Amino acid sequence: MNQMNQMNQVNQMDQIVRRQSRRIMVGDVQIGGGAPIAVQSMTNTLTKDVNSTVEQILRLKEAGCEIIRVAVADSEDADAIKDIKRQVHMPMVADIHFDYRLALKAIENGIDKLRINPGNIGSMDRVQKIVAAAKPRNIPIRIGVNAGSIHKEILKKYGGKPTSEGMVESALEHVRILEDLNYGNIVISMKGTDIKMTIDAYRSMAEKVDYPLHLGITHAGTLFEGSIRSAIGVGSLLADGIGDTIRISLTDDPVEEVKVAKEILKSLNLRNYGINYITCPTCGRTQIQLIELSKKIQEGLKDVNKPITVAIMGCAVNGPGEARQSDIGIAGGVGEALLFKKGEIIRKIKEEEIVQTLLDEIEKM
Ligand code: SF4
Repeated sequence: MNQMNQMNQVNQMDQIVRRQSRRIMVGDVQIGGGAPIAVQSMTNTLTKDVNSTVEQILRLKEAGCEIIRVAVADSEDADAIKDIKRQVHMPMVADIHFDYRLALKAIENGIDKLRINPGNIGSMDRVQKIVAAAKPRNIPIRIGVNAGSIHKEILKKYGGKPTSEGMVESALEHVRILEDLNYGNIVISMKGTDIKMTIDAYRSMAEKVDYPLHLGITHAGTLFEGSIRSAIGVGSLLADGIGDTIRISLTDDPVEEVKVAKEILKSLNLRNYGINYITCPTCGRTQIQLIELSKKIQEGLKDVNKPITVAIMGCAVNGPGEARQSDIGIAGGVGEALLFKKGEIIRKIKEEEIVQTLLDEIEKM
């Protein structure tokens, strides 16, 4: 589904009032200005290893990634951008620390966005050179403050340790450098490992500027803990209407980051990514093999990309309510289940027919 269709569909369902932010284009992907929240990830290959990087980006694209960031640590990495871009057709962000010449080279090689903090690259003259090259090409710059790298003066001002106030002040210092050069094509992120601090920083920033916000909890952890930590941090902000693009940081294959990002957005009805399941956790009332049935149904529908809600419920107590509110669902009984479609009871089905009946009915929808 393309970005405009997503925008229309989401507007109909979305209960969350999104913060108004300015529209920024990263290649052909819009962030801010009411666009669907874009999913990003970052490669963990050596960028100069073009084949591996392209292979990984294509897998990420297949999984639903819309913007990809690559580390540009040296001039070979910056050179590789040209080759990679030719093969992946996805907006690319160059992640650069300190060296303005790498930013200039990345721009020359067709990068779509830079992640660089202007306060860290030395003289104004250098920042000016980047802005002069980025402006005519409409290349946005993401200012990305990490709680761990707030500079000494700001740390001192706020008690010698990272705080949400310090993160905001640090980000705004970088923003002002670009604004003084009349450059407003800016995205901001302020990531920390402390979830509450990160949430507070974004909430505060959301009230101060209209730049799009890139959300993430940094170094969130492995798949299990990182997903939970990100769902709390990023999810809380998204539920407040804050956030225009997200990257979930996981110590795992980056494809997992994209899957988790999509699940978070889907959970809040901010994007449609195929089927939304409502399944009961089972309890002493469950008299069908619900866990096994759920697994079979989800496996059978894993390639179905219809934006529908499917309820798989275990009993006549809570089952009918959920099943009725879903596009299709079952409420289990003893060795059988009631089939619901669009709020109506369609018929009774035997337990052994549940999986196939749901697959057939969903196929017709
Ligand atoms: S839906 Fe019924 S079976 Fe499932 S957890 Fe709730 S009460 Fe138990």
